[in-house]
Amino acid sequence: MDFTLIKYNKLCKTIATSDYNYLTVHDFLLKSNYNRALILRHDVDRKPIRALKMAQIENQHGMRSTYYFRIVKEVFRPEIIKQIVALGHEIGYHYEVLDKAKGDIKKAVILFENELKEFRKIVEISTICMHGNPLTSWVNKDIWKEYSFKDFGIIGEAYLSIDYSSVSYFTDTGRAWNNSKHSIKDIVKTNSYKGKIKSTDDLMSLIMKGTQENMCISTHPNRWTDNFPDWLQELAWQNIKNMGKAIINK
Ligand SMILES: [Zn+2]
Repeated sequence: MDFTLIKYNKLCKTIATSDYNYLTVHDFLLKSNYNRALILRHDVDRKPIRALKMAQIENQHGMRSTYYFRIVKEVFRPEIIKQIVALGHEIGYHYEVLDKAKGDIKKAVILFENELKEFRKIVEISTICMHGNPLTSWVNKDIWKEYSFKDFGIIGEAYLSIDYSSVSYFTDTGRAWNNSKHSIKDIVKTNSYKGKIKSTDDLMSLIMKGTQENMCISTHPNRWTDNFPDWLQELAWQNIKNMGKAIINK
């Protein structure tokens, strides 16, 4: 079974024993001369408790990564965020302000500033990553066409500040690694990896081969669980979403 924490543990073990240097988004952006970097980032869209479980697994392998939290009632849970920080991970802001402001960029930026303040009451925030809702027509990162996140003390945006022409990008979006068919907004402009990765096992063998110069792995922790009924629910929900996305993409 794929997308279980047992599988994730194996993925971490593979990364930890590989010759890649695993980095948070923050550390990657600050290091100007990285060599064989593997950036690990997570979008916490739902079920933050599953993010905490993932964070604990990484910690057991001595790894650090970045967790992007949305500000919605179910996800923004300070006690969980603080526990993830205590494990040595970076917390980032998974913003969706253009969606929330229904496309009004001015309103969206004010909301961005306010939500960032909420975050900073409990944790340092230096990187951000847009949330992609396939059902809205807005792309949240478009606010940076008119404004600069640097004015908010932010050093980088995960889609905009990493040059993916030299960093191979892999995401579990659509429950299928780098299957762009299931990605509507989770897309990077120039992905240096052109092949097909269908399963986490495929991804692990690619890491072991070490053919990619640098890598970025993005997951959604809510998809990863060892509880079988929950796992089935995620699978069913994903199938419905993929059908919907196929229609939207058409
Ligand atoms: Zn998201």
